Amino acid sequence: MSYREKVIGFIQKNLNKTAFYIDEDMRKHTSFKTGGSADLLIEPGSIAELQVLLKYLLSENIPYLVLGQGSNTIVSDRGIREVVIKISRNLSQCTVEGEMLKAEAGALLSDICLKAQENGLAGMEFACGIPGSVGGAVFMNAGAYGGEIKDILEEILVLNKEGELKTRQKEELELGYRKSIMQSNGDIILSAKFHLVKGNKEEIKNKMAELKSRREQAQPLEYPSAGSIFKRPEGYFTGKLIQDAGLKGFQIGGAQVSMKHAGFIINAGDASTADIINLIRHIQQTVKEKYGVELEPEVRFVGEF
Ligand SMILES: Cc1cc2nc3c(=O)[nH]c(=O)nc-3n(C[C@H](O)[C@H](O)[C@H](O)COP(=O)(O)OP(=O)(O)OC[C@H]3O[C@@H](n4cnc5c(N)ncnc54)[C@H](O)[C@@H]3O)c2cc1C
Repeated sequence: MSYREKVIGFIQKNLNKTAFYIDEDMRKHTSFKTGGSADLLIEPGSIAELQVLLKYLLSENIPYLVLGQGSNTIVSDRGIREVVIKISRNLSQCTVEGEMLKAEAGALLSDICLKAQENGLAGMEFACGIPGSVGGAVFMNAGAYGGEIKDILEEILVLNKEGELKTRQKEELELGYRKSIMQSNGDIILSAKFHLVKGNKEEIKNKMAELKSRREQAQPLEYPSAGSIFKRPEGYFTGKLIQDAGLKGFQIGGAQVSMKHAGFIINAGDASTADIINLIRHIQQTVKEKYGVELEPEVRFVGEF
């Protein structure tokens, strides 16, 4: 029996809230809308079922990877052989207690920002336009407009590599620029607690609207992308470097350096992941030759490369 059949059999027998999809087209699960199929994609129906599933995968030595909303992920054109555990909106409860907002990892960042605003809690305005899930945002220590998740995070609940539930305080997470310890320790983020501050609902709303409008003006949101493709190198602005290197609008296949913001690669129509990767390499090489700066991708690559 293949491992896929074994996992499906296990889910059917033990996990009645968990959904699974066979040969799932990953273009449906990534904001770039490229990549091949996943042999098996699973959407756990609850934290309890996720824990049972994880323990089973670990006990059977079945490889897996975790996905949120796929807004910082590029999937290989050849697809994914590991089991994909998608932390979806099935796990998206969000509660507010005083100045604490607690959200499950599958909640959309935009939704919890709205919840904060409705409850008159300030501090999360910077995040309202960042696509993706709470889990992805914590994993990436997502940030924008001078704020980052690190500023507001209190603690997280995770499943560790042994399948045990653990609470981890912010100080343990080694949060830095688009960095966290979860990028190396294999923890699956289940929920996050954010410490916000009392504020004025209208002012919070206006701040969010202002940042949204700045984003719409500066970013090519009308095209599929994964946001900034590279991390910001110390002392430089990535978009400016790429633009000054004469690469604005440069295209390989369906992948194009955005005309609106050179820090973005967009899927201008029918791009493959190979197009995107070739364009990333071309940009890296050109910027290195012209300015001696190494550009490191911010996006994460998964699947069979
Ligand atoms: C138009 C656009 C604009 C963007 N603007 C910004 C911006 O301003 N600032 C910014 O920081 N980013 C930005 N991004 C990138 C992206 O939105 C963030 O990195 C986001 O936090 C990723 O969340 P996600 O759920 O989509 O993660 P995914 O892409 O699904 O996953 C990203 C990584 O997190 C891991 N992961 C996801 N969920 C979990 C979990 N529960 N437990 C453990 N690991 C997990 C995955 O394994 C993967 O390695 C932008 C993207 C787009 C498309």
